[in-house]
Amino acid sequence: MTLTGKCRCSAVNYTLDTDAALAVYACHCQHCQTWSGSSFALHALVPADALSLVGPVTHYAYDTNSQHADHVVCSQCHTRLFNTTSAAPGLRVLRVGTLDNSPALQPVAHIWVKHKQPWLSLPDTIASWPESPTPQQFAEALSASGR
Ligand SMILES: [Zn+2]
Ligand SMILES: [Zn+2]
Repeated sequence: MTLTGKCRCSAVNYTLDTDAALAVYACHCQHCQTWSGSSFALHALVPADALSLVGPVTHYAYDTNSQHADHVVCSQCHTRLFNTTSAAPGLRVLRVGTLDNSPALQPVAHIWVKHKQPWLSLPDTIASWPESPTPQQFAEALSASGR
């Protein structure tokens, strides 16, 4: 399957080539709320080599809690497209809202729901955790979703 996406100004375009189902999840942590200017962020974990970008990008990297993160943004409109983190080697954390067909993708998990906006109701049928799940818990939620 090949998916396409772009930043807000369209200077950066990308393709995502993967046969694996996308592990889409919503993060309700306060960092994601601040960073998105919204109530949660929608992410997908994708293999690093599945993502090909064309266009001008700039990086914002930082270290926290002994983890290193590198965020890739359009250098013109500053849309954040994806990041890498030492917590998930070999993967990229894609911002799902930058995909052209993002409405076709539904989250299989919600994390950091202890900071969820109070007006937002989540379906009982989707896995959720007060903070971050372990990789094993997350993998179990993925397989339980039938993907
Ligand atoms: Zn842009
Ligand atoms: Zn978050």
